[in-house]
Amino acid sequence: MSLVRLLYASTISDSFNADDIKQILASAQRNNAKENVTGMLTFDRHYFLQCLEGSRENVNAIYHRIASDSRHEKLEILDYQSVNFREFPNWNMGYLQNTGTLIKLFFKYNANGLFDPYHMTPEGAFMLLLEIRDEADNALKNNEG
Ligand code: FAD
Repeated sequence: MSLVRLLYASTISDSFNADDIKQILASAQRNNAKENVTGMLTFDRHYFLQCLEGSRENVNAIYHRIASDSRHEKLEILDYQSVNFREFPNWNMGYLQNTGTLIKLFFKYNANGLFDPYHMTPEGAFMLLLEIRDEADNALKNNEG
């Protein structure tokens, strides 16, 4: 079965509140683990950027479920491709909490310095998530150590 990677951006809706993120991550980690889907999610006050990787069937099904979630809107697929391997094998849905690090990374990858995934190149958006993954991996190691 072919391995695919999907990258999309969305806008946080008025019905989203800060506590929702815990519930979203808990659902994502539980559901994605069952379906061998991995990935990374980041967001600020306005936007989400998420990468999902796994079998085409499972990634498509999860994306369609996510797309009908009223906590965000204006979903735009930035990239969808077959890939040879996973970039987020350790994360059923990774997430970095360190706001200071995120602000620096958002600045690095955005023309106006503020996180706006709709105006990032697909490659830039993906590279941002890879850097967030590395930071999240380090944070996990430091907590374990
Ligand atoms: P549960 O986890 O049991 O739902 C928990 C609670 O979440 C519900 O009681 C309800 O309060 C709330 N909820 C559930 N669905 C909705 C909805 N559509 N609108 C408003 N509130 C709701 N799910 C994944 O499985 N994998 C992912 O990678 C993933 N990523 C997400 C990324 C974003 C940016 C968002 C907004 C959501 C994401 N979700 C993801 C959540 C997804 O949209 C569904 O809510 C979830 O998959 C439902 O899981 P469940 O049936 O196990 O419900």
